[in-house]
Amino acid sequence: MIADFEYFAPKTVKEAVSLLSQYKDAKIIAGGQSLLVVLKQRLFTPEYLIDIKGISALDYINYEEGSGLRIGALTPHRAIEKSPVIRKYFPVLSEMESNVATIQTRNWGTIGGNLCHGDPAGDPAPVFTALNAKLKLVSLGGERIISVEEFSKDYLEVALEPGEILAEIQVPTPPPRTGTGYEKLMVMKGDMGIIGAAVSITLSEGDGVCKDARIVLGSAASVPLRVKEAEKVLIGKTINEGLLTKAGEIASREADPPSDVHGSAEYRREMVKVFVRRVARIALERAKEA
Ligand SMILES: Cc1cc2nc3c(=O)[nH]c(=O)nc-3n(C[C@H](O)[C@H](O)[C@H](O)COP(=O)(O)OP(=O)(O)OC[C@H]3O[C@@H](n4cnc5c(N)ncnc54)[C@H](O)[C@@H]3O)c2cc1C
Repeated sequence: MIADFEYFAPKTVKEAVSLLSQYKDAKIIAGGQSLLVVLKQRLFTPEYLIDIKGISALDYINYEEGSGLRIGALTPHRAIEKSPVIRKYFPVLSEMESNVATIQTRNWGTIGGNLCHGDPAGDPAPVFTALNAKLKLVSLGGERIISVEEFSKDYLEVALEPGEILAEIQVPTPPPRTGTGYEKLMVMKGDMGIIGAAVSITLSEGDGVCKDARIVLGSAASVPLRVKEAEKVLIGKTINEGLLTKAGEIASREADPPSDVHGSAEYRREMVKVFVRRVARIALERAKEA
């Protein structure tokens, strides 16, 4: 059973960060979809729970052409999946969300909770990293911005400092001729990925040479893993099937996947080859059409 705790339900961000700075042994709870599991396992036994789910000011999706997309940390997965603006400008986010857990979990679990939980098998972090997204972290002392890429530190460990909460995810408008894809290997729809790959490719105007590539793996290390050597295989070249295969092979060597009941490290490495090649092909086709 969960150990006893004192419960607070602030209604503003200021109230929440004040409580966090006042009570050192406090834990934030949003949708509780991941936190309750680890509380039941007694991986954490906080004395105080600060329930931020009622801070409606952190539940929003805004898009502006110049500055890009801003998603409040308390936005549920399902709202991202269904958002017309996200479907139009960032369809990869909607596609990714449609395979996160079940509809019930997507209705209550928040995007901020997913990122702060720091599970390397989570779907959103690889996609946001491929999209070069940033996070706004807020504390009593002010705010700071950190990239999603730098946010994950280790298994279930993120770069939140004591007293900080995640307030917003900021996704820049991609450069012209950019395509992004994401797929994960799952036994049943909504399973956590045995392996996941997010790929973003930007082509040069005119000659169609690959100007930039970002390849990010899920479930392939203790954090969502950007495989930069594999990216180099594509950058500066006219991408063909041979290069896609090579990028997959290099990504597989850069990966450091776990062995568990869902798959051995060896199997995961093979799947990295398949998924990087497959998703990079999708990203390439989308970049050509963008
Ligand atoms: C059955 C099931 C299946 C799932 N399948 C998938 C899947 O396929 N893919 C996937 O990616 N995820 C999956 N998940 C994980 C799910 O997406 C996350 O549990 C959910 O998004 C977490 O959000 P939450 O609001 O419930 O966070 P909580 O559980 O409330 O919090 C999670 C962690 O984040 C911290 N936290 C929460 N919000 C903030 C904030 N704004 N600032 C600072 N810290 C914060 C909490 O202190 C806690 O440590 C699954 C979960 C379940 C229960």
